[in-house]
Amino acid sequence: MISPVMPTYARTNFGFERGEGCWVIDEEGNRYLDAGAGIAVSCLGHAHPRLVEVLTQQAGRLWHTSNLYRIPNQERLAELLVDHSFADTVFFNNSGAEAVETAVKMARRYWHSIGEPERNEIITLEHAFHGRTLGMISAAPSAKLVEGFAPLLPGFRQVQAGEIEEVDAALGHNTAAVLVEPVLGEGGIIPLSDSYLKALRQLCDNRGVLLILDEIQCGMGRTGKLFAHEWAGISPDIMAVAKGIGGGFPLGACLATEKAAGGMVAGTHGSTYGGNPLACAVGCAVLEIVSDPGFLQQVSRTAGYLRQGLEGVISSHPDVFDSVRGSGLMLGIKCKVKNMSVIESGYDQRVLLVPAGDNVVRVLPPLNITIDEVSTLVRKIDRAAGNLAGSSDA
Ligand SMILES: *Cc1c(COP(=O)(O)O)cnc(C)c1O
Repeated sequence: MISPVMPTYARTNFGFERGEGCWVIDEEGNRYLDAGAGIAVSCLGHAHPRLVEVLTQQAGRLWHTSNLYRIPNQERLAELLVDHSFADTVFFNNSGAEAVETAVKMARRYWHSIGEPERNEIITLEHAFHGRTLGMISAAPSAKLVEGFAPLLPGFRQVQAGEIEEVDAALGHNTAAVLVEPVLGEGGIIPLSDSYLKALRQLCDNRGVLLILDEIQCGMGRTGKLFAHEWAGISPDIMAVAKGIGGGFPLGACLATEKAAGGMVAGTHGSTYGGNPLACAVGCAVLEIVSDPGFLQQVSRTAGYLRQGLEGVISSHPDVFDSVRGSGLMLGIKCKVKNMSVIESGYDQRVLLVPAGDNVVRVLPPLNITIDEVSTLVRKIDRAAGNLAGSSDA
């Protein structure tokens, strides 16, 4: 018999009752170190006092009105995002997929608004992930995501990641935009090099094409800069953000330059819940903390320490692990055994890790994880690997 919760996830048989910082606690009181952060969402850990305060304060005042009216918290968050990024303007969503969909709609609408509606194709990368709506599985159509869901949306074309000539060859008279994740997340923590991103920006400029970045996973301080593209010294025309931006409260945003947003006039796009007072109260508090230069420096320091620890674990378990890659606190360990075996062995050590493509285990702790907690995390991963080495299911 089908479970009341539709069985689209292969879930563990345990779950959690509460959280404190980097820890989540199950019904029996077992404490797990959360190195997945709900897949890069809980960027300030669980039950952060400031986030709890602003959310409960707002909850006692007003939950929802509508985007028919001004929403002061939304205006405040938009101003903060504009102050801290390339963007001139922001549209708010409830999730990542919606934010990238907004980006794609905006790019098409831009060309429509300047009289070139035939420019509607979006170039994306192989192994990319942009979400689960019909539009976004069409944008990044991996076999697992699209099987049984045809017909897909036309207007997307994929090229190999990391090869600038491939993008160059794919650009044509009908190209509206190129859409990439600066660090591919679900695909297996694959960072695009600074030189590739620079070349991509240059290519888009030369050919008059818009550049859209999906920073849903790699943005909001995860790499040690507020946004990952800052490392390459470039800026996009449009950018989708979600996950960390709400620190665990559902929130997404699509940021854009004034030019790229030129077609988005009243009536062109909307959302019932997008940018509601609760989500934006939390979003402001998250951004105020994460955008602080001292906070971001600490992320880089912690990340250096974690990476060094993981390198050590990898050299101690050459039969289990191959290598570590990624940027900041967005790390992936490429495994020689099945990545799910490592993750399940981690559960026995009370550590939460998450899988990704290319047989990778993702390490995505809250950004405010302490150095002591990083040591504990490294020890737990070391033990998880130790229990696997030479085992028959490995
Ligand atoms: C998670 C993710 C999405 C989809 O976000 P949802 O909130 O699940 O819709 C899109 N792009 C990237 C890069 C992601 O990591």
